[in-house]
Amino acid sequence: MCGIVGYVGHGDAKEIIIDGLKKLEYRGYDSAGIAIQQRGQLKIRKQVGGIANLEELIGTEDMTANCGVGHTRWATHGAPSTINAHPHSNQDNTIAVVHNGIIENYVELKNWLIENYDIDFKSETDTEVVAQLIGVFFEGDLLDAVYKAVEKMRGAYAICAVAADDPNKLVAVRKDAPLIAGLGKDENFIASDIPALLKYVKEIYLIENNETVVVTPDSVQILDEQRRPVKRDVFHVSWDADSAEKEGYDHFMLKEIFEQPKGLTETLMRRLNDDGTINLDGISMTKEEIENFNKIYIVACGTAYHAGLVGKYVIERLARVPVEVDVASEFRYRNPFVDDKTLFIAISQSGETLDTLAALREAKSKGARILSVVNVVGSSVARESDDVFYTWAGPEIAVASTKAYTTQLMCMYLIALHMAYERGTITKEFYDQFIADLKEIPDKISYFLKAKTGSVEKLAKKLYNRDQVFFIGRGLDSAVAYEGSLKLKEISYINSFAIAAGELKHGTIALMEPETLVVTLATQDFLYEKILSNIQEIKARGAHIVSVAKDGKEDVKAHSNETIYIPYCRDEITPLLSVIPLQLFAYYVAKEKGCNIDKPKNLAKAVTVE
Ligand code: GLU
Repeated sequence: MCGIVGYVGHGDAKEIIIDGLKKLEYRGYDSAGIAIQQRGQLKIRKQVGGIANLEELIGTEDMTANCGVGHTRWATHGAPSTINAHPHSNQDNTIAVVHNGIIENYVELKNWLIENYDIDFKSETDTEVVAQLIGVFFEGDLLDAVYKAVEKMRGAYAICAVAADDPNKLVAVRKDAPLIAGLGKDENFIASDIPALLKYVKEIYLIENNETVVVTPDSVQILDEQRRPVKRDVFHVSWDADSAEKEGYDHFMLKEIFEQPKGLTETLMRRLNDDGTINLDGISMTKEEIENFNKIYIVACGTAYHAGLVGKYVIERLARVPVEVDVASEFRYRNPFVDDKTLFIAISQSGETLDTLAALREAKSKGARILSVVNVVGSSVARESDDVFYTWAGPEIAVASTKAYTTQLMCMYLIALHMAYERGTITKEFYDQFIADLKEIPDKISYFLKAKTGSVEKLAKKLYNRDQVFFIGRGLDSAVAYEGSLKLKEISYINSFAIAAGELKHGTIALMEPETLVVTLATQDFLYEKILSNIQEIKARGAHIVSVAKDGKEDVKAHSNETIYIPYCRDEITPLLSVIPLQLFAYYVAKEKGCNIDKPKNLAKAVTVE
């Protein structure tokens, strides 16, 4: 969900907080606000819409202060509006609170506050309950009051509070929503995500669940549920602020598409030992455990789920273990067959996807071994897993995932190869050859991006004006079809639909009409004849066919209106290449339509609500 930034120190709190919030804009939000401590009082300013609206509201007003909190909201309780924007305050405006997440028992707490303290609520949010609770418990010490409030709260949240009468202090709490503290010199910070603070600090504390952090200009103290001090290692952030900027590209999405060769090289090379075997740093799973698994669940949401579909194909094909892929929001409620012979693989870019986290906990409680594939170091999914396979995509800012997806695929290949080798289902020769083939992928993508981006852009300019687009493929190609379709719909708002090509004739072919746009993936050598038949079926109905095929496959061209060729590679790893033209196509179609590509409407980057 959305962004929290808190500051206390010698600097201009308003400037720093607003600047930090801007760095979190990529998450998608509907309103923004700030509270500062000024001469023993709290000044709260908030506004619906972008941060620019908030800045306009503040204008030249005197907001000089050394302590404050700010927020970008993605509404869950109450409409996006100025009154519902954060910070929220208590009855007499002496406490201000920003909050990410949901307070599940807020109705009960609201009634309790009304009955016992005659509180007059101003907003429809669950968050205001937190501010009012802290308000009724406050007796001069903000930390005391926060502890008392948290005792009554249920849900998943990160909160940060400031009090008029406890100056130069922020108190923040984490429960199932990301929270970090930034360590400066005579100044310290709170934030929900690292990019907010990159300009100011490189040293941070990752706050854990059920911890409270008290921040003053010269100290950051972490406390556990019983209020005992907790020692935390300093986490040194290795990315610089620049890597979170667009670097000359029109959009983060395009920049991230072009960063894929780099991300894939990182993800692969960090996992390869000098002798060419897979480095298992951070993974303690033994050969015996791998041999004992009789079932694997891959659970994820959105694009990560599509990476899971590829994972299923390759793990089943190479390691010969049955794999089920499920969307996290379904998995957790269907009482799945999980036991101590189950490997549960969670895939999440942010590592904070609430549905995935909840599914992970469900599987864990039933005894499964948890392996996660995550991009954000120190995220909740990573911390709650037995083993973590990090993707090294770097920060992904565009809401539509590209480099996180391909690096997730790379992890799927490495996991499949390692498992297959340990289970004895592939030879060392096959293993070595497969890794050699994977190593060639970054260069092949670079070549494609350089040689073919222009022609995909041209194609998009020609075809952008469609109401609907179909994506079809067989085998691994169908997994990529789902991803291509999702990419297009999320950023261009075109109604796109993906289906396994062989399934077309069981219903969807009824929708084929002259000029219906169908993107066909035809990259699987062993299914080539089959997909050619499917292409002919839709061609006969007059569809406009754009095919993606491997170099050298000429007959597909004869049946398609346009063909995009990808460099030749083995069938199993084509998704790493075939998705690239689909990402570019979605990007250029959305650009042609004038859409807000990096921040599509209604979508958030990290979905931390159920
Ligand atoms: N549940 C809170 C609200 O709707 C917080 C939303 C957020 O995480 O931004 O105001």
